Amino acid sequence: MADLSERPKASSLQPLRALLPYIIPYKGTLFLAGAALILASAAQLTFPVALRYLIDGGMLTDNASSIDRYFLGLFIVAMAFGVFSAFRFYLVTWLGERVVADLRNAVYRHIIRLDPTFFEITKTGEVLSRLTTDTTLIQSISGSGLSIALRSTLNLLGAMVMLAITSPRLAGMILLLVPLVIVPIILVGRRVRVLSRVSQDRIADTSGMAGETLNAVSTVQAFTMEELQSKRYGDAVNAAFQIGVQRIRVRALLTAIAVLSIFGAITFVLWIGTKSVMAGDMTGGQLGQFLLYAIFAAAAAAGLSEMWGEVQRAAGAMERLIELLDAKPSIVAPQNPISLPQKSEGRVSFENVSFRYPSRPETLAVHAFDIQVASGETLAIVGPSGAGKSTLFQLLLRFYDPESGVVKVDGVDISQAAPEAVRARIGLVPQETVIFGTSARENIRYGRPDASDAEVEAAGRAAEADGFLRQLVEGYDTFLGERGSRLSGGQRQRIAIARAILKDPPILLLDEATSSLDAESERLVKEALQHLMVGRTTIIIAHRLATVLKADRIVVMDHGEIVDVGTHDELVQRDSLYKRLAELQFGENHRPATHAVK
Ligand code: ATP
Repeated sequence: MADLSERPKASSLQPLRALLPYIIPYKGTLFLAGAALILASAAQLTFPVALRYLIDGGMLTDNASSIDRYFLGLFIVAMAFGVFSAFRFYLVTWLGERVVADLRNAVYRHIIRLDPTFFEITKTGEVLSRLTTDTTLIQSISGSGLSIALRSTLNLLGAMVMLAITSPRLAGMILLLVPLVIVPIILVGRRVRVLSRVSQDRIADTSGMAGETLNAVSTVQAFTMEELQSKRYGDAVNAAFQIGVQRIRVRALLTAIAVLSIFGAITFVLWIGTKSVMAGDMTGGQLGQFLLYAIFAAAAAAGLSEMWGEVQRAAGAMERLIELLDAKPSIVAPQNPISLPQKSEGRVSFENVSFRYPSRPETLAVHAFDIQVASGETLAIVGPSGAGKSTLFQLLLRFYDPESGVVKVDGVDISQAAPEAVRARIGLVPQETVIFGTSARENIRYGRPDASDAEVEAAGRAAEADGFLRQLVEGYDTFLGERGSRLSGGQRQRIAIARAILKDPPILLLDEATSSLDAESERLVKEALQHLMVGRTTIIIAHRLATVLKADRIVVMDHGEIVDVGTHDELVQRDSLYKRLAELQFGENHRPATHAVK
């Protein structure tokens, strides 16, 4: 997987080809849009012809009825132009919106499935920025931008053909001038593209920074870092602004070059044309017609040159999205996954498992870890901070694959099974409960999305959460606030327990919270956990004496290795590390502590 911060600078419009698969499903709309486009351009291109007849025929002959006919015809053409332009705008813009909506969906669907390794090297804010700003950029180009670009291209081509028909000699002259106009536009356009890519990167940096600090706003404030963070953010915003200004300067230059060269060319041709009329080589009407076509062509070319910059920006944005779409998860389901036994027994085993985090290859986070957890057993894991306890959970949930050894669930090597099938059998109650910004009911339902209201409430009762939830203004339907900021620590934990109860998994992973709860809250959480653990295999990262006393076995871990296995009584007798941990964490006399010390 590519590190997103080291992106190669591509220099073509190639990335936009990746949009094709998103456009193809809407072939019908594309066809209609094309038809509207051609009809609108055709209507527009008949105007100069009408002008010529008006000048050469209508105005010279004193024929009032033919003038009326001309103007009636012209009015009908104008109507057609208006109607087809509206259709073209609607269809092309619709297509742009639709394609970008699909693209956004595709990118999100892809990213949400990537494993933690990806998120270790990519800021979520940066991903969010790509998902919003980059797609918006593509939207502006593929919607109205595309509409302008297509119209301009068609008008330019049509006007050129008509120029050639009207006066081959003058048209030939224009043709000679075209390279003078086009080449600088393309060259400067390239520079716009590179700058626009850098500019988007800088904007993504600011989003990344804002996302990170806003997610941890209370930490920022507790350390009174508001000013420092604001300054850092300000610097990042300024860096983005500076690049933006550079880009705008080049764009301004591009516009100047385009307008100057195009209108310079027209003035030149008009000069030659006027001389031809004076010499009797062409009529005034023909020159008028020619001039109008030349103006159309110039306006179209100017529009195109402006769009060219936009198209380049969109290509830059697309490139960034392709990188996201191309990021390969390191955890993938095997081609033919082995299915887990129909009925889960809740057996878990680590067989000689060793593992290093990809971002820290020099140290083994888990080393030759070997243990079998029987169906229905409660296994407590204790060890000093950094011993590798949480890493075991990561391996069991298959967020990472071990370097050697195998992790098995119900006797199946989980690297040979579909990750979803493995995760479906595991319930996780993490130390810090994640609460989503929705109602309590939906938060609990996260455990099993198809659960009925009654099932959600039953889980709430079993998790001892029913009482406090019913006291909220709207009961289970109360909005819990962004990240559950309206709940206490103990209440959040009971929501997590309710979720796990609803999921009803055969295997339970509990990371006991280390934060202190008041006695009442502690009791409620303990009761909720007891309901949850009944009849399940439970692996629990233990911080409380009550927990280790109830466990069937305790594993003592240090530096990723198993130091000892046994019951509390056995371990205090023979294991010095355990004894020390027990004294530290559970109090010297092994009395249950009201709060655990880590
Ligand atoms: P604690 O009780 O403090 O939560 P722990 O026993 O759960 O600690 P782990 O989180 O499993 O310890 O970490 C084991 C080792 O792996 C530590 O040295 C830690 O610094 C390292 N580690 C954890 N997560 C990562 C990661 N994503 N990338 C690199 N190293 C990591």
